[in-house]
Amino acid sequence: EGRIVAREDSGHDGWQHSLRPKALSDYIGQHTLRQNLSVYIQAAKKRKEALDHVLLYGPPGLGKTTMANIIANELGVNFRITSGPAIERPGDLAALLTNLEEHDVLFIDEIHRLNRSVEEILYPAMEDFALDIVMGKGPGARSYRLDLPPFTLVGATTRAGALAAPLRDRFGIVFRMQFYTPEELTLIIKRAASILNIDIADEGAREIARRSRGTPRIANRLLKRVRDFAQVMGSGIITNEIAAHALAQLHVDGIGLDAIDREVLKTIIYKFNGGPVGVDTIAAAVSEERATIEDVYEPYLMQIGFLSRTPRGRVATRAAYDHLGVPWNQNSSE
Ligand code: ADP
Repeated sequence: EGRIVAREDSGHDGWQHSLRPKALSDYIGQHTLRQNLSVYIQAAKKRKEALDHVLLYGPPGLGKTTMANIIANELGVNFRITSGPAIERPGDLAALLTNLEEHDVLFIDEIHRLNRSVEEILYPAMEDFALDIVMGKGPGARSYRLDLPPFTLVGATTRAGALAAPLRDRFGIVFRMQFYTPEELTLIIKRAASILNIDIADEGAREIARRSRGTPRIANRLLKRVRDFAQVMGSGIITNEIAAHALAQLHVDGIGLDAIDREVLKTIIYKFNGGPVGVDTIAAAVSEERATIEDVYEPYLMQIGFLSRTPRGRVATRAAYDHLGVPWNQNSSE
């Protein structure tokens, strides 16, 4: 079984798709993005043009795919979904592009994982709505230009920095997804509970929200697990006591950190005297990939002020010491 607090879509999260809001007005949180997109979408519709290409970046589970889908709904166009690793050859992308209808939304998840040859097809497609096809090889090779219908590319990535600059520059709308506040997550949990017919008290929703690390996907996952405890141990209603008990059983602590988060912090604190220590060293110590540490674990630890990135490496802050109950080491360099 995967980690309950894993931010990635574990492949067991298909049920969560039914919880995705379908309209901009049902999307909770990300206020700036919502307000701006609403203007851009209305303007594009008035001009009868495709919406500018949109890049959404930030940790997994924050609602990028959901938002891409909503953009297509609000524009009243088809939504086509694929991912960087799924597009192996330029021909795969060409096939996708030539099947688009006017103003459609093409969503490419993990767009930083496109390979170079595929990326090169994308540039003229994004800029001129054209496909450059090369026929033959060597001196006899000829290139043809095929017009594409104007479309909107929505790209999602965990890190904008991982994107090649020429690709990044071709997005007119770039937005960094924010972690959700406990209040926003409470609303998301209550909404999901009502769709899934789960009885939940306000305090129960709030308890789960506080421990969901600012991430709707985690909130939904915890909600479903806590429901099991409520049905077996209680009357079926999720109260805050049941939520707290269930989450403790799941090794999710009071602020939503799990064993690996704590392992990361303990590595820095115990083995490296609070840091600074390089991310590769941390990754090796907790047996995770460097990219997973950087894109999945660190953003939230930094958000809550437990970790800071310095030029010489990662440093655990006093708040992290306090949370783990470790005496603050005045000599450690913060
Ligand atoms: P990402 O693409 O960033 O990894 P998703 O769009 O797949 O994230 O979101 C994960 C799940 O969280 C969705 O299936 C949806 O149920 C829920 N979700 C995400 N954002 C919101 C939101 N703003 N309001 C309500 N539910 C949301």
